[in-house]
Amino acid sequence: TTHPDELAGLTGLLSDQERAIAESVRALTAREVEPHVAGWFERGEIDDPRGLMRKLGALGLLGMHLDGYGCAGTTATEYGVACLELEACDSGLRSMVSVQGSLAMYAIWKWASEEEKQRWLPGMAAGELIGCFGLTEPDHGSDPAHMRTRARRDGGDWIIDGRKMWITNGSLADVAVIWAQTDEGVRGFAVPTDAAGFAANTIEHKMSLRASVTSELVLDGVRVPDSAAFPEVRGLRGPLSCLSEARYGIVWGAMGAARTALECAQRYAVEREQFGRPIGGFQLTQQKLADMTLEYTKGVLLAVHLGRLKDAGTLRPEQVSLGKLNNVREAIDICRTARTILGANGISLEYPVIRHANNLESVLTYEGTVEMHTLILGVKLTGQSAFQ
Ligand code: FAD
Repeated sequence: TTHPDELAGLTGLLSDQERAIAESVRALTAREVEPHVAGWFERGEIDDPRGLMRKLGALGLLGMHLDGYGCAGTTATEYGVACLELEACDSGLRSMVSVQGSLAMYAIWKWASEEEKQRWLPGMAAGELIGCFGLTEPDHGSDPAHMRTRARRDGGDWIIDGRKMWITNGSLADVAVIWAQTDEGVRGFAVPTDAAGFAANTIEHKMSLRASVTSELVLDGVRVPDSAAFPEVRGLRGPLSCLSEARYGIVWGAMGAARTALECAQRYAVEREQFGRPIGGFQLTQQKLADMTLEYTKGVLLAVHLGRLKDAGTLRPEQVSLGKLNNVREAIDICRTARTILGANGISLEYPVIRHANNLESVLTYEGTVEMHTLILGVKLTGQSAFQ
C-alpha cells in the first residue's frame, strides 16, 4: 500500500529542516503522549501536565515562531509542521501548545510592556510557566465585542471583575491574558493567577478534547498594577491578532488528526476481511479512502500555501479563515468516514479515530466557528456583512 503523503508527493513540499522538525515532534509524541493519550481521554485528565509542558518547552515548541525571550524563532511553516504532528497525536496536545504559544505568549510578546515580556516569556518558552487566554464569556462567544468583563482604574492600579468561560489551560495557568472592557475600549491584561480574587474552575463532562484542561475563570475585584495592562492596543484588534496566529496553527493541526484517522482506516481496510476478502477490496471502501486522501491532500496543500504566505509576510486574516474553515470541516469528515470503515471498532478508544472525531467537534467551534469563518469570507466576496 502507498501512504497518502507519498501518493501525492506531499513530503517533497517540505524542506529538510521542516522534515527534521516533523520527525523530532513525532519522536516526542510517540514517547511521551501516544501510549497514554487514550487513557487520558477516557479519564478526562492528563498525567503531569506541567511535566509535559516542560518537555514541549525543552524541544522549543512553545512560542516557537516568536523571536527572542528564549523562543526558538522558527519560520511559520516550521511551526505549522509541528502543529500537524502534535495534532496527529491529539487535538488536546496541539491545543495546549497553541494556547501557550500562539495565544498567551503571542499576546504578551506582541502587546505587553517590556517589563512584562521579561517577566513571563522566558519561563513560558521553557514550559516552566503556563499561560491561558481569556476572551470567551458564558454569554459572549462569537460576539466578544459585547463582553461584560470590566476593568476600571483605581489610583495607579486596575480592578478587574467578570467571568471567562471555556478557557484552555485555565486551571493550570500561572498567567492569564484577560480581555476586558474599559473606558478606553477593550484592553488586555496579563493577570497573575495567584492574585487575590482570581479563581479557575475546571469544566467537567466534556465529550471532546478530554485530554485537555478547560476552565471557567472568575475575576472578583482582581487588582493588577498599570504595568499589567497592554499599553498600546485598544479594541478587538488585540485579541483578534492573537486568534489569527492560533487559527493558522489549526489549519495545519486539523490535517494531523485527519492523517491519523486516514492511516488507521487504510490499515484496517487491508487487514479486515468480510465476505471472504479484505474490506479494502470493495469499491465502496476504496471510494471512501480515495475521497479521504483527496481532501487530506488538498488540506495539506492549502496549509503549505498559507505557511509560505505567512513566511513571506503577506498572509491576510481572511486567508486564515479560508484555511481554518476548510481544513477543520474536511478533517472531521475524514475522521467520521474512517470511523465507518472501522465498523464497531471505530467507536472504541482502542483505535484513535473516534477520539480524533470527537476532538474536532471542539476545533470546529473554537477559534471562530465554521459559521463565523463563512461570514468572514462572505464579507470579502460580496462586500456585505451578514454578521448582524
Ligand atoms: P455562540 O457564539 O453562542 O454560537 C452558537 C452558534 O451560533 C454557533 O454555531 C455560531 O456559529 C452561531 N452563530 C453565532 N452568531 C451567528 C451569526 N451572526 N450568524 C450565524 N451563526 C451565528 N475561548 C477562549 O477565549 N479561550 C480559550 O482558550 C478557549 N478554549 C476553548 C476550548 C474548548 C474545548 C471549547 C469548546 C471552546 C473554547 N473557547 C475558548 C471558546 C470558543 O472560542 C467559543 O466556544 C466559540 O467562540 C463560540 O462561542 P459560543 O460557544 O459562545 O457559541
